[in-house]
Amino acid sequence: MIEGHKIDETNFNPPLGVGGILLDERQKQVSVAGANERTIDCNKASVAGSVSQRACVFCGSRVVLYPISDALHLIHGPIGCAAYTWDIRGSLSSGPELHRLSFSTDLQERDVIFGGEKKLYQAALELINAHKPKAAFIYSTCIVGVIGDDVERACRMLEDETGIPVIAVEAPGFQGSKKDGYKVACESIFKLVGRVNNPIPAKSINILGDFNLAGELWILLEYYKKMGVHVNATITGDGRVEAISNAHNAALNVVQCSGSMNYLAKLMKDEYNIPSMRVSYFGIEDMSDALYDVARFFKDDDMMNKAREMVKEEISRMMPALAWYKERLTGKKAAIYVGGAFKAISLVKALRLIGVQTVIVGSQTGTPEDYELIKKLCDEGTIIVDDSNPVELSHFVKEKQADIFIGGVKERPIAHKIGLGFCDHNHERKEPLAGYEGMINFAKEIYATAMSPVWKFTKTTDPLTP
Ligand code: SF4
Repeated sequence: MIEGHKIDETNFNPPLGVGGILLDERQKQVSVAGANERTIDCNKASVAGSVSQRACVFCGSRVVLYPISDALHLIHGPIGCAAYTWDIRGSLSSGPELHRLSFSTDLQERDVIFGGEKKLYQAALELINAHKPKAAFIYSTCIVGVIGDDVERACRMLEDETGIPVIAVEAPGFQGSKKDGYKVACESIFKLVGRVNNPIPAKSINILGDFNLAGELWILLEYYKKMGVHVNATITGDGRVEAISNAHNAALNVVQCSGSMNYLAKLMKDEYNIPSMRVSYFGIEDMSDALYDVARFFKDDDMMNKAREMVKEEISRMMPALAWYKERLTGKKAAIYVGGAFKAISLVKALRLIGVQTVIVGSQTGTPEDYELIKKLCDEGTIIVDDSNPVELSHFVKEKQADIFIGGVKERPIAHKIGLGFCDHNHERKEPLAGYEGMINFAKEIYATAMSPVWKFTKTTDPLTP
């Protein structure tokens, strides 16, 4: 706990009972829906002293690129960086599974003193010969940024020697935060795009920003197939090097989780004039819009009718189940803290559909526009927070008496330490939460977790609570 830091009363009306836990520099990154018109301060580096939930640049790049399943992913750095993202994501592949292996050059003291380029070249060559990948991504971590190995040069030599694309992912962790890693990943993917020209149908899209967690992408592919839309490249869930290399031939980029992939869509618009649209596949409303918007883009009545028919069928199938959950969950309160704010917006709507009120909503990488939307969407009094930390989140949850916490791997211990139900809406999940089927799974999980009798027997171990 940081002593002597008081809530800025102009930010909170009425003031929250969390005085003493907000650093002065973080006051403007927290707001309350309905309390004021001030735009939340966001899109900036984490404040020193605040233990941000954000990960490093390398992690950001790795989580985006990793689902390309027929590529080799080699981490140039100490072994700890490789362990950091070792198979932590539930990204599935329908074919090759090379992405599930994590390789590292395991830099040692000697390499740090004399340079690790030679070791990198030899390791990469050995791995490419052994695994025959379609491309290789070589990630630079913190220490490589410090010692200055020329990873680009090593990649050029490897590309000449092996004949496959070998891409330097310059992502030393200290250069920023996870969001900067997304940008590096987009630049790396962009280096693949345009390398092949395979013919594809005119009404083709690329799906950007879905990582096929628990097979979610396959649900979406089925929907688009029913509408008559051809999906060319999936970037990066169940991703393949050849399809990505051909991505410039699609008519449209459909971008989910814009925090990670909007930049790639921009690069492709600038270079290949491919338009993009932002969608979300979570919740009934946003999922349906994602289908209608694509049909609208192609100006195809038949496609639109098929989408309408499908949505009607899915909704009538799922409504009785959702009504059952709503009856039982009405009155429950949820806290949301996720990576991208666009997902948070969908979650607020999806929770409302099953009677759950959102009382806290935050993200690691939201933009002013995202937070404005959240503010309009949420009930008065909802706490809105950017780039939060465990101390703040714990206090907010207790202040608002949330019944369930929805977040990712780093939020799970916060919830469990307080004695609160937790729903993983990030990379560790094993059940798909996207699409109509995903909405039912989501309701089921929220119900099972929030209503579990176990919470009656837990007591807080948080020293901040008397
Ligand atoms: S911060 Fe640096 S050392 Fe730590 S995991 Fe990221 S790249 Fe590796």
